[in-house]
Amino acid sequence: MSCFRASIPQVGSLLQESVTAIGNTSSLSTMMLVAWRFARRLTVALVEEELAKRAQRPTEWTNCERCGKKLENKEFKHRQLTGLIGTVHWERRVGRCRDGCEIGQVAPLDRELGLQPNQRTSAGLKRAACALAVFVPFEIAVVLLKLLTEAEVSPGSIWNWVQAAGQASMDRLKQQLEALKDGQESSEKIEAAIAALPLLVGADGVMVPFRPQGGKPNGRTVWREVKVAVLARLSQRITRTGKQASQLVQRRLVAVLGSIDDLSPRLWLEARRQGMMSAKIVVWLCDGGRGFWRLFRDRFEQHAQGILDFYHVAQNVWKGAKVWLDGRTKRSRRWFTQARRKLRRGQANEVLADLQAALALNDLPDSARKTLQNLYNYLDTHRDHIDYARFKALGLPIGSGLVESACKWLIQQRFKGVGMRWSEDGFNHLLHLRLDWVNGRFDDLFALTTSPCC
Ligand SMILES: [Zn+2]
Repeated sequence: MSCFRASIPQVGSLLQESVTAIGNTSSLSTMMLVAWRFARRLTVALVEEELAKRAQRPTEWTNCERCGKKLENKEFKHRQLTGLIGTVHWERRVGRCRDGCEIGQVAPLDRELGLQPNQRTSAGLKRAACALAVFVPFEIAVVLLKLLTEAEVSPGSIWNWVQAAGQASMDRLKQQLEALKDGQESSEKIEAAIAALPLLVGADGVMVPFRPQGGKPNGRTVWREVKVAVLARLSQRITRTGKQASQLVQRRLVAVLGSIDDLSPRLWLEARRQGMMSAKIVVWLCDGGRGFWRLFRDRFEQHAQGILDFYHVAQNVWKGAKVWLDGRTKRSRRWFTQARRKLRRGQANEVLADLQAALALNDLPDSARKTLQNLYNYLDTHRDHIDYARFKALGLPIGSGLVESACKWLIQQRFKGVGMRWSEDGFNHLLHLRLDWVNGRFDDLFALTTSPCC
């Protein structure tokens, strides 16, 4: 300690002050807090000390990038950088062109330190702020950041960092989509034990509140659908009560504010990455409608077993029973219960035969006929996707609940807070950061965009 104090006088007085302050505390938690603050101040002091030392070294002046003449040594100027440890201040030499070319001030030390000309924040702080913003509103991210570090930043700054990082993420995705189009394969490293599990693919739509066109804050909220897809390996775990339960592992999410056609290439890219082509069993699990089954037929049918969500089917069968046999009667209940049981047992043909018989009745009202015909077509189209007895035997899920909750979580948890309304860019940038976070690609993104890191 004494050696420390001797070599760095500034740290010496800081240390003395802190030792006294720690001595004056009574509770352990206050003691820890005071020591922690000291550690931070010490870190800042050490960094500032080192920067001051480096600033005194002789400077190698480069030539003006415009006219080529050697730069002229000017005075020392202040610079600061805010990082996770707090704000560091230092003074360093700046130079100018002797002939007055408009190249601004050049600080060779800044370049040596890997700083960008207008950088005021460290990459590590930006990364931490963006990680918080993935989960909580910008204002709360500011408070948490201050609580966890000494850094004081504004919600606007975090918003800007999210926009920049989100844009970098979108650009990266665009490149990857183009590479796939050009026939380049990309795949993620997956452990052998996980790669042997069935791959589950599912998709759903989730509504998000947007500002009216033009992004003005007032005016009516516009609800737009975000298409979300999940890819995961289906694993089994034993619950505390000894039951077997399905669990999703190696979960990856894909999402887009756009149409099914916008989702299609993104989902395809992720499916290739998740080893769809080599997976033993691939399952496409979805509820009815909204174009997702068209996407299945266009791209996934030859690789995956489609499963139509059982509860969605049951719901539609109940609608049929209601119009055909009058929902208030015991007969309609009984038929529905039997039909549902038959579907579960893999006897879809019998249900279809029942519906066909009903459609052959002469006294069936037109509205009921229409509903029953739709139900018949729906079950008939999905004949291969409602073989629930076989799916159960294979250990596959027949309900899309796991898919839907994964999709909802991605959007609901962050984008649908009270009073939240998004601009298209603001939403897209944060969405892509959030996707990178859940897909384990967040840190790569910051390594791509930045160099220094505290
Ligand atoms: Zn010049």
